[in-house]
Amino acid sequence: MPAPNHRQHQIEVVESFDLAQFEPGTSTKLRVSMVGNGLGGLISVPVVIIRGVEAGPVVGLTAAVHGNELNGMRVIQEVIAAVKPEALRGTLVCVPVVNVPGYLNNTRSFNDGADLNRTMPGKADGTNAQVYAHRFVTRVIPHLDYLIDLHTASFGRVNTLYVRADLTDPDSRWMARCQHPQIILHNTAGDGTLRGAAMDLGVKSITVEVGNPNAFQAELIHDSTAGVMNVLAHLEMIAANERQHAREPVICARSYWMYTQVGGVLTVYPKLADRVRAGELVARVHDIFGERLAEYRAPDDGVVIGRSTHPVNQTGSRILHLGIEGSLTAYT
Ligand SMILES: [Zn+2]
Repeated sequence: MPAPNHRQHQIEVVESFDLAQFEPGTSTKLRVSMVGNGLGGLISVPVVIIRGVEAGPVVGLTAAVHGNELNGMRVIQEVIAAVKPEALRGTLVCVPVVNVPGYLNNTRSFNDGADLNRTMPGKADGTNAQVYAHRFVTRVIPHLDYLIDLHTASFGRVNTLYVRADLTDPDSRWMARCQHPQIILHNTAGDGTLRGAAMDLGVKSITVEVGNPNAFQAELIHDSTAGVMNVLAHLEMIAANERQHAREPVICARSYWMYTQVGGVLTVYPKLADRVRAGELVARVHDIFGERLAEYRAPDDGVVIGRSTHPVNQTGSRILHLGIEGSLTAYT
């Protein structure tokens, strides 16, 4: 009688793969090796390759580059369940967890403390996280034409369902719109991000921020799964997606975080996706005796993309992520 997880051991571990090696109309689970651990064993990332019957675009889905950002993993599982290889044109490359050590430790960071999404594309010869990033970028990303990288807020904060995309890029623009998110934030991919490393390789990429860390949020998972399926439908990889819904996103031309200047107990007033006016009171900090230490007012009119939920704050803690509205037509 095999152990309950015996089947997991049957999954082939490879250093690299070639999409042509998979039969059209099949779905294959793989582990792609990344780095060695202290036992002399391998740390590998789980990959599912769904190769359609007809040739077509290659779309990559990645989640948990930050190890405790879990909604995207569930989105990818739902997409894997929904997409039938015999009815697919093109190929899906699904990586439900990119940062395997962080996922196992239930941390955002890699196990050496590095932020993997500030480390891309890594280095062939460097720290553990740099080598891991380099191997991920060289072993998985070059297969793709398009990438949707799924994230959430960090610990102690919450996010709307929002997309980060370079809206000057026409492909990023339609990919972002396909998500029907609450907010689309124009943002050229930051240094060290997986989106940036992929864009540098010519892979059209967006980042989808799916709510909050350390949780599965059913409604947001449903909406993001629909967003991924909309991209596949737009590329005519699947038949028109029936899960589409028509929320019009707020377009933000830029954004910034407000930070506290004092330590103490933080209360943030606006809710996610609320619009605030310049000068509006958005947060207070009290000392431990309940005496008011500071008030914070919105510097600009804007929309709340994300906010702190953690009352205990030191000087320099994040208060809220304010998006400054723009218009999609500014980029077309
Ligand atoms: Zn993240």
